[in-house]
Amino acid sequence: MLNKGLLIVISAPSGAGKSTICGRYLKKHPDTSYSISVTTRKPRKGEKEGKDYYFVSEKEFKSFIKKGDFLEYARVFGEYYGTRRSSVEGKLNKGKNVLLDIDVKGALQLMKKINGVFIFVLPPSKKVLVSRLKERKTDKKAEILKRLRIANKELAYINKYDYVIINDKLSDAVSNISLIIQAEKHSVINNGAVIEKCVKLFSKTEADKWKK
Ligand code: 5GP
Repeated sequence: MLNKGLLIVISAPSGAGKSTICGRYLKKHPDTSYSISVTTRKPRKGEKEGKDYYFVSEKEFKSFIKKGDFLEYARVFGEYYGTRRSSVEGKLNKGKNVLLDIDVKGALQLMKKINGVFIFVLPPSKKVLVSRLKERKTDKKAEILKRLRIANKELAYINKYDYVIINDKLSDAVSNISLIIQAEKHSVINNGAVIEKCVKLFSKTEADKWKK
């Protein structure tokens, strides 16, 4: 029996550098699969369908909800975002790790229904967060203010997560994610199949064979 893959959920306030961390981690660990979300938001410059997101209309998104296609979904910054079951479940069952870059509302839904490691990424300071949001030039001032207000609300849920990473230096943040995942791979809860095999090996029948 194969051990199931690890579900890795990463959340962060917008501008904390979560997407960059996830991108770097995935480059270093090509065996980990990235769950491409479905969203109703319009593609930003340079974003590609099926690589960054699956871009759909609100009508399509709602039909996915009706069919029960989503493992979780949430409305973030006025748009819908969701994780399809098909992007996650099959891969986990095949023993592959799956990485999700999702918001706090979505992560809270998953915590209730699936085993995984939940990581919260923080910026080193509010000043850094604001300057990162400004640097992105993808969002207008009103949008930046909205994102900061939401960040404030999201922080209230940090203690529901398993780990916290301060994204001060990108390479350190990525290494720390790798270390967390390495440790999780050895947790008792994630090694059911190996433990089961060992228990059989140490069973009375096996011990009896040794006596002969
Ligand atoms: P952005 O529009 O900047 O790419 O993403 C906005 C927010 O939506 C980010 O916090 C991102 O993590 C979150 N997000 C992306 N995909 C999903 C998803 O499938 N589910 C949920 N709940 N949030 C998502």
